[in-house]
Amino acid sequence: MTAGGFTYEGVPTRVVFGLGARHGLAEELDRLGLSQVVLIASGSSRAEADAMVARLDHRLTWRVDGVRQHVPAELAQAVTADAVRVGADGVVTLGGGSATGLGKVLALSGLPLVAVPTTYAGSEMTPVWGLTTGGRKETGRDPQVVPRTVVYDPELTYGLPPLVTAASGLNALAHCLEALWAEGASPLSGPIALDGARTLCEALPAALAHPQDPKARSRALVGACQAGLALATAGAGLHHKLCHVLGGRYDLDHAQTHAALLPHVVAFNEPALGSLAAKMAVAVGAGRASTGVHDLAVRMGLTPALSELGMPESAIDEVAAEVAAAPPANPRPVDEAGLRSVLRAAWEGDGPG
Ligand code: NAD
Repeated sequence: MTAGGFTYEGVPTRVVFGLGARHGLAEELDRLGLSQVVLIASGSSRAEADAMVARLDHRLTWRVDGVRQHVPAELAQAVTADAVRVGADGVVTLGGGSATGLGKVLALSGLPLVAVPTTYAGSEMTPVWGLTTGGRKETGRDPQVVPRTVVYDPELTYGLPPLVTAASGLNALAHCLEALWAEGASPLSGPIALDGARTLCEALPAALAHPQDPKARSRALVGACQAGLALATAGAGLHHKLCHVLGGRYDLDHAQTHAALLPHVVAFNEPALGSLAAKMAVAVGAGRASTGVHDLAVRMGLTPALSELGMPESAIDEVAAEVAAAPPANPRPVDEAGLRSVLRAAWEGDGPG
């Protein structure tokens, strides 16, 4: 490609955003002609799922409450078989990235997906699906898994536990920052990634301080939507790759793993980013983006140490070797020694030097 050339593929999703937007879900299904949907809801969204059952009325044919992180293949197979058995013509998800992720696997089999996200994971805006079989997480891109409609209602996030607010918010921040240096980064994805990073860094502490503040919750959710869009259009890179390998192998909490690792991958890349490093620092609101992300995570009560999330020390060498064997494109060349130092720093949890 010529210098300055780029390829951009947009996300064909209808986004309906607003306080109380969930009340219009039935109309959104009617608009898509869906009349026999499966509802997949996170366990913690049970009360809201009950209300949604009433709202969907005759459009609902089956309900799934058992959602698990990283989309275990056996769960995906069972739910897909149920959807076929009941003759579903679509899927509605209510919950965080785990509910959306299970819905995406159903969408892979051709069922249109409507997502109602309740965390800041951002998965609802991406064509990326994930499936974990025997400790190995496989991910792929397929436009078929992009929700036809995403309904964002900040009121659904008022009860989000502080840990989930902070961790899923930093997962979204990781989408934004990696989208700035990923292989598919372009003049179309960059501005939204930078704005998403700025929005999240400002709104997340405000949402933690005032969990029921409509303005803070709305801004944080806008940031999550921007983050998902940035990831969808620019792609992922080294940071997401490391998180997926760690999450799949050791069943670590996805969002908290992102939060602990992000400062160190940013620090690793900062010397290779040129003027982008300064733009990232401004967006994060710190002298250096890497230390700014670390300080934000700690200020929001997250552990900066992967060791505290259950990552064994032996994983440092194992994961470094696995990722170095097929490294993703990255601004700074990736080798096994470099990965070991990134992983050790994140395992110990000290701030980036
Ligand atoms: P999650 O969906 O597992 O939710 C975390 C916890 O918060 C769960 O216990 C859930 O029940 C609870 N919860 C969710 N919404 C709530 C609410 N409104 N109130 C109270 N509790 C609530 O975690 P997550 O961080 O949202 O998503 C992580 C998953 O998403 C991982 O599997 C990850 O791989 C995937 N993901 C995928 C993409 C993608 O583009 N494909 C992007 C980001 C994350």
